[in-house]
Amino acid sequence: MDVREVAVPGWERVLVAREDGYHGVVAVHNTALGTALGGTRLWRYAGEAEAMHDVLRLSRGMTYKNALAGLHAGGGKSVILAPERITDRAALFRAHARVVQMLGGRYVTAEDVGTTPADMDVMSTVTPYVAGVTAGIGDPSPHTARGVFRAIQAAVRHRFGADALRGRGIAVQGCGNVGRALVRLLRRAGAEVVVSDVDAARAEAVAAEHGARVAAAEAIYEVEADVFAPCALGGILNAETIPRLRASVVAGGANNQLRADEDGARLAERGIVYVPDYVANAGGVITGYADMNGWPPGEAAARVDAIHGTVLDLLRRAEAAGILPHEAADRMVEERLAAARGREAT
Ligand code: NAD
Repeated sequence: MDVREVAVPGWERVLVAREDGYHGVVAVHNTALGTALGGTRLWRYAGEAEAMHDVLRLSRGMTYKNALAGLHAGGGKSVILAPERITDRAALFRAHARVVQMLGGRYVTAEDVGTTPADMDVMSTVTPYVAGVTAGIGDPSPHTARGVFRAIQAAVRHRFGADALRGRGIAVQGCGNVGRALVRLLRRAGAEVVVSDVDAARAEAVAAEHGARVAAAEAIYEVEADVFAPCALGGILNAETIPRLRASVVAGGANNQLRADEDGARLAERGIVYVPDYVANAGGVITGYADMNGWPPGEAAARVDAIHGTVLDLLRRAEAAGILPHEAADRMVEERLAAARGREAT
């Protein structure tokens, strides 16, 4: 296997590896808080430069997500550039596992977009540094949805003075694994829910199951609601959609909701409270970490529920300091990383 170490300022290790049909990149962003944790993404990239851009952005995001979730875990991520046609899927994951193994436990991976627990099973035959295998926690989405639900409660409290969701209007974009589980929790709490999905049949099914209304995919931004919960794709908060929002809180499970940094300011200018996505959607990674570390039953659920306190804390800090919520979140992470470095130095 041809393995190349790439020096990237701000990242601890970046390896690019190639062998036959396999081409992958593994990035360890920061291990100040512990072993770097982050999934393996299988994606059709235009080339290595695009894959590198993605893995760097995602691995840094994991440092932030894990730190704010209060885990003793750092941030890493890896990507496999999907070949034109996959002839031997297991061989691809065995090759990737060998690269993960080369980092000697500094990075532990799990499933992500395009990969499954079965792929992690294959990797675990080569390296022990794999979580998210089929015998593990299984689908993380219900835990992610629980965390998003707690984030919504906290943001509603911050905006309206109380957690209660009874009678609150909530627009949920995306009825996939996370969206569907979130709608169930919201309806149980008495919220009035409107859902959308580009797959109209999926939206109809979730609405019928839980007693929600359906909006057309493009109309969800304009739904009169207290909360808009993006649970589909990234980049959906942008110059075109933000002016259309009728909600005063945005909190959801989708990754990378802000298309650009200035979209955080756009939301604030409209008086919309925004919960940074990586704070709201940490329930899955918290539960995976708990499983890896053999936490006692109930501990993971308590940590997922604690997302409520983290969100309240960061929204209050942002307000007090006159900064944006994602800037307050970044400061909280920097504090935690600095404290960890301080402990290391003593
Ligand atoms: P999923 O693929 O099960 O569901 C996504 C849904 O969104 C699909 O039903 C799809 O048809 C729909 N969709 C796509 N584009 C849309 C649009 N423009 N408007 C409305 N609906 C649209 O994925 P998921 O596991 O539910 O994850 C949802 C989001 O949450 C993703 O951004 C994912 O990265 C993020 N996330 C998921 C987890 C998890 O535990 N699954 C954890 C953290 C973050």
